[in-house]
Parts: sequence; C-alpha cells; structure tokens
Amino acid sequence: MAQQLGGTPVLVLKEGSERTRGKDAQSRNILAAKTIATAVKSTLGPKGMDKMMVNSMGDVVITNDGASILKEMDIDHPAAKMMVEIAKTQDDEVGDGTTSAVVIGGELLKRAEDLLEQEVHPTLIVSGYRLAAEKAYEILKELARDVTPDDTETLKKIATTSMTGKGAEVARELLTELAVESVRAIAEKGKVDIEHIKLEKKTGGSKEDTVLIKGMLVDKERAHTGMPKLVEDANIALVNSALEVEKTEVDAKIEITSPDQMKAFLDEEERMLEEMVNKVKGSGANVLFCQKGIDDLAQHYLAKEGIMAVKRVNESDMKKLSSATGGKVLTTLEEIRPGDLGNAGLVEERKIGDEEMIFVENCQNPKSVSILLRGGTEHVVDELERGMNDALRVTACAVEDGKYVTGGGATEIELALKLRDYAASVGGREQLAIQAFADAVEVIPRALAENAGLDPIDMLVALRSAHESGDKYAGLDVFKGEPTDMLKANVIEPLRIKTQAISSAAESATMILRIDDVIAASAEQAPAGGGMSPGGGYPGMGMGGEY
Ligand code: ADP
Ligand code: MG
Repeated sequence: MAQQLGGTPVLVLKEGSERTRGKDAQSRNILAAKTIATAVKSTLGPKGMDKMMVNSMGDVVITNDGASILKEMDIDHPAAKMMVEIAKTQDDEVGDGTTSAVVIGGELLKRAEDLLEQEVHPTLIVSGYRLAAEKAYEILKELARDVTPDDTETLKKIATTSMTGKGAEVARELLTELAVESVRAIAEKGKVDIEHIKLEKKTGGSKEDTVLIKGMLVDKERAHTGMPKLVEDANIALVNSALEVEKTEVDAKIEITSPDQMKAFLDEEERMLEEMVNKVKGSGANVLFCQKGIDDLAQHYLAKEGIMAVKRVNESDMKKLSSATGGKVLTTLEEIRPGDLGNAGLVEERKIGDEEMIFVENCQNPKSVSILLRGGTEHVVDELERGMNDALRVTACAVEDGKYVTGGGATEIELALKLRDYAASVGGREQLAIQAFADAVEVIPRALAENAGLDPIDMLVALRSAHESGDKYAGLDVFKGEPTDMLKANVIEPLRIKTQAISSAAESATMILRIDDVIAASAEQAPAGGGMSPGGGYPGMGMGGEY
C-alpha cells in the first residue's frame, strides 16, 4: 500500500496488508456483525431451536445458549468478533441474556445501515444511539419492580424464566428451588459471590437425583480404606502442607554401615510422621483435608486414630471448604489449634455412579455450598449445568440489585414506546437514530414470535396496542400466541439482564459504526493470491491478529 510523496511512493503498510475504506468498510463490518446475530437469533426464547456444534476435535455440543454457541464458533472477522464480545460481556456481567444482547446489537447495526443509506452521517447515528441508550436505562429503572432476598417466590420465578426452553427445563422445579436456596445461603451483605457455589457433575442417575449440599462436595476419596467412611460432628483440619518427611532437594547420600543405623534412620522417619499425626489428633480433629500428599505410613497412623483424611485436595476446594466449615487453611501443622478447625454435622464418603465422593454436610451457616448435578448422559448433565448456571446467575443479580422486569418482550415493547416519545422530544436529525434504536429493541418480541411460529407483525401490532392502552407488562405468551400480562404469567427477569444487554449492544454497535477504515495485516501463512478468508467470504479479512 503506497502513498505518493513528491512522486516517490512511500510504503506505509507491510506488503500483503489489506485495506478497506469508507462505505465499503462499513458495510462489510455491518454484514459480518449481522451474520453473527442471525446465527443465534433462531435460538431465542422458550421456543427457540437448539444448535449442534461440532468442533475440529469432533466434540459435540448441543445447546441453545447464545454464549456457548458463539464460544464454539471459530470466528475470524474482526467486526464479528466484536459481536462475540457482546455475548462474553453479558455472560460475565449477568450470566444470561446473551442471545438477546447479540440480537439487539445486530439489529442496531441493521437499522443504522438503513440510515446510512439515507445519507445520515455515522457520527449522528452514534450520538443518537448514545442518547437513546442513556434514556433506556432511565426508562428501565422506572419500569423495574422491587424484590427482596427473602421473597423466595419471586426469586424462583426469575430462576424459572431463565431456564425456560432449555434442556434443564425438565427438572426445572427442583433446579430453581436449589438455585434460590443456594444463592440465599451464600449471600452476604447484599453481595453474592457465585464462586462460592460449586457445581459438580456426575453422569448417571436421573436429573431428580440432583442435590444441594449445605457444605462442600469434594471429588476425592479417603486416603486409606482403614479410615472411617463416616464422621459425625466433624472437626475438620485444613492443611496445605504435606504429611510427608521432606526429601532433600539435592542428592544426598546417607552412608549406612550397620543394620542398627538403618533401623535408627527408619525409626526417625517413623517418629516424625507419628508426630505429625499426633498434632492433628491433639487439635481434636477427626477429619483432615490436605492440599498435598500424605505418606503411606501417616495414612496408616491416621486410620489407626480413627481420623478420616483426604489428600491432594485442590486449592480452590480448600478455600471453599474453609468458607463452608469456618475452618482456617493452615500452612503448617505446627500452628494447628482447636480454634482453627472447621465444623460439619457430617462428613461422609459416598459412592456416586461408580466413583467415591466426599460429602461435607450440615455445616452451620456455610458460606460455600455445592450442587451435585446428575443426569443420564454427559450431554444432559452439561446442559443441566448451563441451565443451573443461568439460574444461579440471574438469582444472584436479582438478590444483589433487588430489581426485576417482565420478560416475553414486554419490557422491550414498553421501552420502544417510551423511546419513540423521547425521540420526538429531542427532534433534529438525531431523532431518526433514536427512533431506529426503539425499533431495534423490538427485535426481541419479534424474534420470540418468529421462533414460536407466530406472525411477528400481527404480534407486534397487538403488543404495541396493549402497551399504548397502559398495559405495560403485556408480553408474548409464546404458547398461546397472544399478548399476556407477563407479571401474571410469572415471566420475569432481573433488571440487569436488560440494562447490560442494551449497554453492550449499543457500545459495540457504535464502535463498529465509527470505523471507516479497516487495515488488516496479512495472515502469517496466507494462501497465495489472498483467497477468501474463512470469516464468511470477506476477501482480505483473514487476518492473523487484532488491529
Ligand atoms: P438469552 O440468551 O437472551 O437469555 P433465551 O433463549 O434464554 O435467550 O431467551 C430469553 C428470552 O425469552 C427473554 O426475552 C425472555 O423474556 C423470554 N422468555 C422466557 N420465558 C418466556 C415465556 N415463558 N414466555 C415468553 N417469553 C419468555
Ligand atoms: Mg436466557
């Protein structure tokens, strides 16, 4: 790529770089972004279809979870990648509403394209979209209703809505119950750290065997079969150093010249191990979780003392054990004191499927809990896990923010109605962009209708007229195919789902709109002649890195 300077061409970019500018760049970016939105749109809502994703390793994932679909897709185009970012952000911030966010993002760009064709300048669209997004937050906040952490009924409805239409739906009642119970259990000072809920999957059994453990589930077995399988009123020691005699780092040679010396040497090792076990015993512990190894001999001593021990527990489990039982993770056995021990009503090794697991149960006020997900096949448990994750995340959002809105497109229709009023009040050329934003948001009820095999236009007209006559919770009952009060239908979602979807969709759309120049370095091993890139046939966009 060359610029002319006094007749001499100046090479600015490396050979093989591709550059697209102006309208061309814009329309290519928009097309790529829309492609992503279209890919997930058919999965939206309770009647959305599933997708089967097969990766290059041949692994199969069947899901209708937007974030999971996009994660599995091998996306190359930079603008398309920005759309994937929307899903990622939504997933990180809220954990649900990923499809909606991406679909809104795509629709914002589609509407912007129409405006661009009418010669509205991109910067005007961008500023109109920004105004609209700001106003949308306000409208959403006014529309939201309050929920307290004690309002389990409402929380369960929120969890249920997030699972509707998912593979997890079959065991919905049980799963939502568990989701709400566990979130409430670990909520502390209005904050919910979802990390403190451990999801453990085990194939086999049925979905109904899924249980909540008010404490911890550790995917390990006892260190030694001579140890008790079950300990009641457990005093639990959590230690992150090994119960082994330290081997020297450097190769040391010990010269033993007589059998007595040999015996003395072994005796000394034995004595040290025995002392370690005595320390554990002396603290009053009857259960030991060790992050490192436990010497065979030490295991034997522990078993003799009737102490149940588990070795090589991973660090994150140690942390959760600590917050579930109230025990302190000790770095050495030297500092072990009765006050540092954790407590649980019951610690038991149980056979789940064909593997042993350690249940640490009946903890008093545990700040970590575990959920054991069961299901016939790996696909079932995986989908249960995704559903459970969504349910946990939305419940957590609702508990943290204390706000929820109605689903089924009700909120989007109301939002669009109010945004159109606002557009009129702003006037000027930005008005067009704000109106376009309002229209774009309505893609949600439209897609819900389409995916349910209903006529989207009829549905939209019916919904709009319901809202115009003051029915602000009217959404689409996808089963009956008519506008219904979503509050009465128990289709409700945390406010954060909607605000986050609008904000990441608007941010990415405006970012894409502001680009009028794409400079792509050539891929490291670009095929000769710069053929079509795998990103959906955008020549020259098969780029190796970010720009
Ligand atoms: P997302 O990834 O955006 O969460 P989903 O496939 O979970 O996508 O669909 C969410 C949409 O489905 C939301 O707009 C929600 O309000 C709607 N929805 C959920 N349950 C119902 C229901 N019973 N009736 C109508 N719409 C519903
Ligand atoms: Mg969802």
